Amino acid sequence: MEKTLSIIKPDAVKKNVIGKIIDRFESNGLKIVAMKRVLLSKEVAGDFYAIHKERPFYNDLVEFMISGPVVVMVLEGNDAVKKNRELMGDTDPKKAQPGTIRSDFADSIDANAVHGSDSLENATNEIAFFFSQTEIH
Ligand code: ADP
Ligand code: MG
Repeated sequence: MEKTLSIIKPDAVKKNVIGKIIDRFESNGLKIVAMKRVLLSKEVAGDFYAIHKERPFYNDLVEFMISGPVVVMVLEGNDAVKKNRELMGDTDPKKAQPGTIRSDFADSIDANAVHGSDSLENATNEIAFFFSQTEIH
């Protein structure tokens, strides 16, 4: 069993498709073992995306992530990291396979509906960034 971090980003929360996105996870064998809806501060969003600090889109990404509430979740299941990335689809919704979350719910590469950890190591760090052990069951 693996755990991974998922974030439903402000664009998808505004579209009122939290339930539809969660259904994709549950219907594909992933279980939500922690969840909260939060409005990130600039500092927290900046820290979370610190690995992208040198990328040209960093400031826009942080501004976007604080533009409205997000839903942060820990997903658990077999191959959870890879499975979540498959369900999400390509970073650019226009390139994402039909039937993936980003293809179905996202409009652009900067407003792309979901975040998902890209490795087991990053998943562990990202989960600890948002949740204490007592919040994961
Ligand atoms: P992913 O979210 O698929 O793991 P990355 O880790 O490469 O993608 O990038 C993090 C986030 O930064 C993306 O989800 C997207 O919101 C934003 N982003 C990535 N590349 C671009 C880009 N070329 N232009 C604008 N925003 C981008
Ligand atoms: Mg990434």
